[in-house]
Amino acid sequence: MKKLLYFALLLFALSCSAQSGYLPPQNGENTDPEQTEDRGVAEIPGLPSDADTIEVPVHVQFKRDTIIEHYVEFRTGNIPVIISVPHGSTVEGGSINGEEFVLRTKENTGDPSFSTVLDTRTILLADCTDAEFQRKTGKYPYMIIAGIRRKYVDFNRSKQYAIPEGSVANGIAWDTYHDFVKAAKDSVVMKFGTGLLLDFHGHSHDVKQVELGYILSSSDLGLSDEVLSANDKYAKKSSIYSLSLKNKTNLSFVELLRGEFSFGDYLHKAGLPCVPRSKKPNPGDEIYLSGGYINKAHGSASNVGGTIDAIQLEFDSTARKSANCEDTAYSLVSAVISYMKKHYYTNAFGK
Ligand SMILES: [Zn+2]
Repeated sequence: MKKLLYFALLLFALSCSAQSGYLPPQNGENTDPEQTEDRGVAEIPGLPSDADTIEVPVHVQFKRDTIIEHYVEFRTGNIPVIISVPHGSTVEGGSINGEEFVLRTKENTGDPSFSTVLDTRTILLADCTDAEFQRKTGKYPYMIIAGIRRKYVDFNRSKQYAIPEGSVANGIAWDTYHDFVKAAKDSVVMKFGTGLLLDFHGHSHDVKQVELGYILSSSDLGLSDEVLSANDKYAKKSSIYSLSLKNKTNLSFVELLRGEFSFGDYLHKAGLPCVPRSKKPNPGDEIYLSGGYINKAHGSASNVGGTIDAIQLEFDSTARKSANCEDTAYSLVSAVISYMKKHYYTNAFGK
């Protein structure tokens, strides 16, 4: 009897993959077949007495999960985009398993780049971006959002400098954040093969532009295209190394970094001033942030490996104004989709 049931389910599954049909959507459900995911057989109807009565396979829509654990929020996704927001929380203290968060100081962290600055409204901007992806594609990016202030945990530092030495709750929160980033990366690799992590930050520098960080310093970017191309150490240390090795039109690393099809060019054309891009290949004397721990640890630099590229996005204060949230998100999502359609082997956004 069990064998018969297994056989029936196998037929059921095969018919499921062989035909394009899925149950007509209920009111308000998405009607795009690409936006459904086959979660297999939703329920076992019991063995039919007649093969003709086997029911139409059930495809269940992707259902996003939101997990909030140890002061970190993780939202699951179904496109190869991961958004990380490490410095946006205004939550003042708390505890995990009865252990209180400990305030960071220069002394108890030893952090050479010690900072407790809040990246104001980056969570709002990430929420607007999440909503814009849903509006434009009907799909969801992965989201990892810190829920404790930077003055307790700096999620964009290596653990050694991120938390006060010996602090328990701070360490658990840091681990949780990076475990969720890894989980998102693993899921994207499994479903899509490659993907892009966008690490959201905010700066208050004089020049209003989005600083795109690839782990290349301002002086690296000051080098000519010829020099950056002549030695592959620059591509290898960048957070888009994987893309430079394999992209749809075989563009070179420098073309991807600041050519006419670079992310910077797509973003600028979509309405957000930024650097680097073809018309502004380096920041010159302007203050510029090139990318922090998250980009280094979770991007595709050769010492990390893998196929998830990363770009740090340092948004200026104008781009992060509440009134501009939707416009900034609109430009950003347009640029991400155009860039990924052009360079990545994915049809996650449609043809
Ligand atoms: Zn930041």
